[in-house]
Amino acid sequence: MSTVSVSTRHNFSAGPAILPREVFEQAAQAILDFNGSGLSLLEVSHRGADFVAVMDESFRLVKEILGLPEGYHVLFVGGGASSQFFMVPQNLLGEGDAAAYVNTGTWATNAIKEARAFGDIRVVASSESEQFTHIPKSYQVPDDCRYLHITSNNTIFGTQYHEWPECSVPLVCDMSSDIFSRPIPIERFGLIYAGAQKNLGPAGVTLVIVREDMLGRATRHIPTMLDYRTHIKKESMYNTPPVFPIYVSMLTLRWIKAQGGLSAMEARNRAKAACLYAEIDRNALFRGTTAPEDRSWMNATFVLRDEKLNDAFLAMCKEAGIVGLKGHRSVGGFRASMYNALPLESVEALVMVMRAMEEKHG
Ligand SMILES: *Cc1c(COP(=O)(O)O)cnc(C)c1O
Repeated sequence: MSTVSVSTRHNFSAGPAILPREVFEQAAQAILDFNGSGLSLLEVSHRGADFVAVMDESFRLVKEILGLPEGYHVLFVGGGASSQFFMVPQNLLGEGDAAAYVNTGTWATNAIKEARAFGDIRVVASSESEQFTHIPKSYQVPDDCRYLHITSNNTIFGTQYHEWPECSVPLVCDMSSDIFSRPIPIERFGLIYAGAQKNLGPAGVTLVIVREDMLGRATRHIPTMLDYRTHIKKESMYNTPPVFPIYVSMLTLRWIKAQGGLSAMEARNRAKAACLYAEIDRNALFRGTTAPEDRSWMNATFVLRDEKLNDAFLAMCKEAGIVGLKGHRSVGGFRASMYNALPLESVEALVMVMRAMEEKHG
């Protein structure tokens, strides 16, 4: 194999996003020769012993890293996180059931829209009127709701829950952009879902973790492929699973474990976020766009006070090998995504460019 490192960029892309270098190398190797079989991972049966072992290890690692108690099922399904916006209420809500939702951004808005087809959806809090710049804190969740749906990290607006909501009902959480980035109190969650392409693997697979007691209320007809019970019973092998995204996710899970698990991820992510936000606050040219207490460790959103400097800044970033910094098309400005795999050195490189901007234009 070539020994040339491809890691010549600081990749701040929001998703699909950076993965650990060794994961890319091992994944590339498995495409050429899977487990020394002389065959590519992409050309062998998903029911063969080698791939079944990949599924088993993936389930095991998710359980181990999150410390899942008995009663939780781990599923790998297709359709992206966006399909969970309807699969969750379709599978969890029975006739006339209610569910509470908090609207903290674009993805939460989409989840609410889809859920309305399946039950009495109550939006108990929203930060929409403040352009989603903070996480709503004081609201009541009615006890008769089956669950409270939240989006733990708002990828586009750059806010994140740093305290979980107090309520008597189980949490259902879209963790697409911060899964495995920190320890979580798993027993509070009835269901967690995450599209792989932010913090786990390539696009094409979605991780779903569901507690047994969340199921069984829906009496409606659910198409076989959309029914969680199908995938639980068949251990995510009812049909051909997305073999490559699952394999790469397994490699990332191995990497997370080897780094020291979720507390190590949290320490790493806290350090990166502290480094970047300190510079955003210190540097007179820049301004953060979200409430300081709700700032995301994963996606830092910020602007130049003088927008006329935007192009100059992006040009300097490019020069320094920094890519993926442009804010979401719906928000503008800049967004630095700092997922698990992004090294602190990349954040330091960005901070150096911000300082150089200040020297030149401040
Ligand atoms: C990216 C993202 C989604 C959409 O994921 P898809 O897999 O593209 O459907 C949903 N929720 C959050 C929080 C995201 O960051």
